[in-house]
Amino acid sequence: MAREVQVEGVVLRRGYIGEYDKWVSFLTPEHGKLRLRVRGARKPKSKMGMLTEPLNRLKARVIEGRSQRLIVQPQLIRSYVSLRADLERLSVALALCETLDRWLPEEHAEPEVYATLIVALEALEAGAPAEQAAAWALWRWLAMLGYCPEVERCGKCGKALLPSAPLFEDENERTHNIALIPADGVVLCSRCAPQREEVMLTPAALKLLQQWLQGERLNSDARPETSRSLMRAALGYAECVLESPVRWLEFWERLNTLRENG
Ligand SMILES: [Zn+2]
Repeated sequence: MAREVQVEGVVLRRGYIGEYDKWVSFLTPEHGKLRLRVRGARKPKSKMGMLTEPLNRLKARVIEGRSQRLIVQPQLIRSYVSLRADLERLSVALALCETLDRWLPEEHAEPEVYATLIVALEALEAGAPAEQAAAWALWRWLAMLGYCPEVERCGKCGKALLPSAPLFEDENERTHNIALIPADGVVLCSRCAPQREEVMLTPAALKLLQQWLQGERLNSDARPETSRSLMRAALGYAECVLESPVRWLEFWERLNTLRENG
């Protein structure tokens, strides 16, 4: 990286250093994830401090110091005001940022991962269902980072996991359940799957997953249960293959329980 570069990116996470400073984990398309120091960010009324909070999309200069990098002159591109006003969408957006912060190594450019984050944030800002946006982004990231299993054919017998005929909503879902086996990184058909599985997918969920991995964007007509099952599947799978527990699932379940209980 040059001594001084102009970058754009999203603040994934932040922490504190020293009395007045903080550090941010900043995801950029060209340089990947960078850990940057923000000087004076915690002084009262610091504009720098406000601008460098998680979720903000910024343009800024990065200066290479002797032992660390500094972010200076941030300019706000997007602050996602509308998603911040909704607890569910805000928690999903922050969770996606935190997940990327854990998954990505430093200084490894992943422009598509960045582009997917922006699409997900814009979708949440426009009011897209939170679980669907989360599931969509997580599965696409798993695929981009090389962790996604084959989802078209059974990992054991090689047969197509879904019939070529169109699926019906009520199609005997129980007998057609498809099993995702995180430990082996495979998806198995109902005949090959062992009796008890950690993650089961309905044919409708697998169909949606196939479409997403083929590049389709978020679908407004997907059923909430389908999105939710894909989100849980992505997290269960990620926890196993990346060996990084995704803590926010617990928070998510608590939020759902609160909502269901009114
Ligand atoms: Zn099979």
